[in-house]
Amino acid sequence: MSLTELFKHKTVFSLEVFPPKKTSPTEAILPTLTRLQSLNPDFISVTLGAGGTDHCDGTVEIANLIQNKLNIPAVSHVPGLYQTKEQVLALLDRLDSINVKNILALRGDRIAGKQPAGDFTHANELVKFVKEQRPDFTVASACYPNCHTEAAGFVDDLAHLKEKVDAGADHLISQLFFDNQAFYDFKEKTEIAGINVPIEAGIMPCTNKNQIERITQISGVPIPKKFAAIMDRYQDSKEAMLDAGIAFAVDQIIDLVSQGVDGIHLYTMNNSKIAKRIWDETESVFAASDLSKQKANS
Ligand code: FAD
Repeated sequence: MSLTELFKHKTVFSLEVFPPKKTSPTEAILPTLTRLQSLNPDFISVTLGAGGTDHCDGTVEIANLIQNKLNIPAVSHVPGLYQTKEQVLALLDRLDSINVKNILALRGDRIAGKQPAGDFTHANELVKFVKEQRPDFTVASACYPNCHTEAAGFVDDLAHLKEKVDAGADHLISQLFFDNQAFYDFKEKTEIAGINVPIEAGIMPCTNKNQIERITQISGVPIPKKFAAIMDRYQDSKEAMLDAGIAFAVDQIIDLVSQGVDGIHLYTMNNSKIAKRIWDETESVFAASDLSKQKANS
């Protein structure tokens, strides 16, 4: 069953990992992946060049481990900004050769001082190109419940999102957010705009104040008062911050699943222990939601 088909039958639960630092061998991630396997994810996606790091290898090798060693569908991130059409085709060929036919097509994070390759300025161009060149690939795209930092505003950002979907994006994965209401408002706007593909909600468990401040600064995602209070109260206790951050993410997920979200995409930050704790707290919620989806379909 294709990933897109899957959304019709269940609340999709997916995970994101990133390649280890260049100094570590790719295989270093295998124990983490093996532990994540026990969460029974519908797919695991692997970043490529995220955070403006220069494009590192490792993504295809990790996708290979996920797809062929662990037998979990793998999704490779493919940023277009610094790649020529030929380079993208070569990457798709490498993925095809290991039977990975799912990608997340992105513009890509900017790399300070590096000149874009010029073939793909925005993600919609990449989506269109991949769909033309490799129609058998499933192509996901990114979306931003709190609006993309570079967008002129929500209306513009939504219009550009519609362009990605019209270009062939099969489903969307959202940027992280801490306020579910922002996601619900965004979802309503996408429906009005005629964006009818499944949208997975991106959830990042935040268990460390510095990490949260760095991520929210880069992504422009606002921190709600409730979460700011948690950080202020517990920042000096590693254990309390961990418990509170996990509880906050669990709370977000339970609410989203109960509101019929298409899927949850967990940004694991390669921390399988935290991901496991979240899964243990929410597994039954996913199961109950799938049961009611199956009943509705029959
Ligand atoms: P676009 O859809 O191109 O949008 C970027 C901006 O341009 C937006 O403001 C949009 O409104 C505007 N825009 C879009 N189309 C047009 C147009 N035709 N004309 C004018 N303006 C337009 N980055 C990486 O480098 N590697 C990764 O692995 C990675 N993984 C990610 C995973 C997820 C789930 C998410 C949400 C982001 C990820 N990123 C990654 C970051 C992403 O590359 C950045 O957020 C980037 O700034 C935007 O990417 P995009 O694909 O959404 O771009």
